[in-house]
Amino acid sequence: MAYDVIVVGSGPAGGTAARYAARRGLKVLLLDKRKEIGVPVQCGEYVASDEEVRAIFPTVTDVEDLMEVPHRVRQVDTPIIRIWSPRGRAYDLPFTGYTVRRDKMDQGIADQAVQEGAELLRETTVTRVQGTQVHTNRGVFEGKVIIGCDGPRSTVAKSVGLPWPVSAPAMSTTADGDFSDATEMFFGNLAPGGYAWIIPKAHSANVGLGTWERFRGNLRTLYDKFLAARGIHGGKPTGGYVPVLGPIERTVEGNVLLAGDSAGMVMATNGGGINVSMLAGRIAGLTAADYLLDGVPLSEYERRWRAALDGPLAEGVRIKHLADRFFGSDALLEASMVLLGRRRMGRAIRCQRLFGRTPVRSA
Ligand SMILES: Cc1cc2nc3c(=O)[nH]c(=O)nc-3n(C[C@H](O)[C@H](O)[C@H](O)COP(=O)(O)OP(=O)(O)OC[C@H]3O[C@@H](n4cnc5c(N)ncnc54)[C@H](O)[C@@H]3O)c2cc1C
Repeated sequence: MAYDVIVVGSGPAGGTAARYAARRGLKVLLLDKRKEIGVPVQCGEYVASDEEVRAIFPTVTDVEDLMEVPHRVRQVDTPIIRIWSPRGRAYDLPFTGYTVRRDKMDQGIADQAVQEGAELLRETTVTRVQGTQVHTNRGVFEGKVIIGCDGPRSTVAKSVGLPWPVSAPAMSTTADGDFSDATEMFFGNLAPGGYAWIIPKAHSANVGLGTWERFRGNLRTLYDKFLAARGIHGGKPTGGYVPVLGPIERTVEGNVLLAGDSAGMVMATNGGGINVSMLAGRIAGLTAADYLLDGVPLSEYERRWRAALDGPLAEGVRIKHLADRFFGSDALLEASMVLLGRRRMGRAIRCQRLFGRTPVRSA
């Protein structure tokens, strides 16, 4: 069957891309290998507030329309991020965010795409993309534009010769109980090169741990140790890979665009990818429409998302490289946190320059 746009992967990037492309009247097919969209949850379920998104990415507009579903499945507002140093010193950073039911969020965004006219096919695994053909376990579909939103180990990227982003393993679970409304991040050798987290949800918390790309040990051992040290009993953890060193060099190849984790669009200083993947998914869906309806070149996608998002993403990678020099030694990390102080840690979390002003790019 022939479509204008085929979106591979119905996570936050793919659902959003399909939603906005369909809104422009295109014939859109959204494919996902999962039986139930968003299940299993492989996420800390933390979303930055619209105010933070506007502060970090000052040129983006219409954040409310974009984030309608995450707000609808909102669980707990969290007004601060509490950074714990290796020796147990707490730094409270004002940073507003909220937690979501991630499965409900992904399902809600896919529903929005369907309401706009997209066709959703679950249990459909893409095995290869070749030109306009998308090969799956259910046959071959034709698409004029293919948007690859199939995560950090993207089949779409691999098919067209684009590289996978550098990524690192992370895992989490939900633990019942009452927790403070702070989003807590624990740094040090307990999570080499990354951090462990406790993120409050309704009468529960998402508890997890992620490391860096150099990690070669057993993540589960670190994870169990972290929970045991805090007397937390969680359910069975689920894990995945998080792009940790920013976007890949090129995200357009022929008629293929990549958005979200498949393109490495994660904030390197905090591992957050939900907001960015939705922002990029919208740009991908709308640029596909501009291409098909008005002849705007597809390369415009690369220019648009970089103008809107890449400044902070690239700054996050620079900060991460700097931080990597201190990770590995608790003593060094402790000292660097004292030197950095609360204000600069707040800038680091937002992927803003630690020293001097952050330049604003025009869209
Ligand atoms: C443990 C963990 C915790 C995290 N915590 C947070 C957090 O708290 N806040 C935050 O902002 N970010 C967090 N992230 C990152 C965030 O989850 C990702 O950045 C975000 O999900 C990216 O969205 P996406 O749509 O690009 O990809 P994904 O959400 O990964 O969606 C990809 C979709 O593609 C489908 N798919 C894959 N391959 C195929 C195929 N071959 N054929 C068909 N379908 C396919 C998958 O089934 C999936 O539905 C976390 C990541 C991990 C691993």
